[in-house]
Amino acid sequence: MNKRQNAYFCRKCKKATITIDVHEGTTPMFISCPSCGGDAISFMYQLPRILLMEEPEYEWYMPDVNETNVLSNQEKEHVLNGGLLLRKRTKI
Ligand SMILES: [Zn+2]
Repeated sequence: MNKRQNAYFCRKCKKATITIDVHEGTTPMFISCPSCGGDAISFMYQLPRILLMEEPEYEWYMPDVNETNVLSNQEKEHVLNGGLLLRKRTKI
């Protein structure tokens, strides 16, 4: 699959959080900004070139069965509906 890069722009601290989809699934329109906890809005995968060149800090992933078991009910429902979860990327 084509890995899709996206970013979320925080209206409070003006920071863009770069993300990448490592699995197939849906991602939300808003996330809570990792820097300040404010509302960060999706670029809808239409990234300006300058953001495309940045290394993603976070990844959207589909949890496996073991990972799904420890989720909250709300998160489980999100995942069962094809939603991906966000986690910080670990450098290879
Ligand atoms: Zn912020």
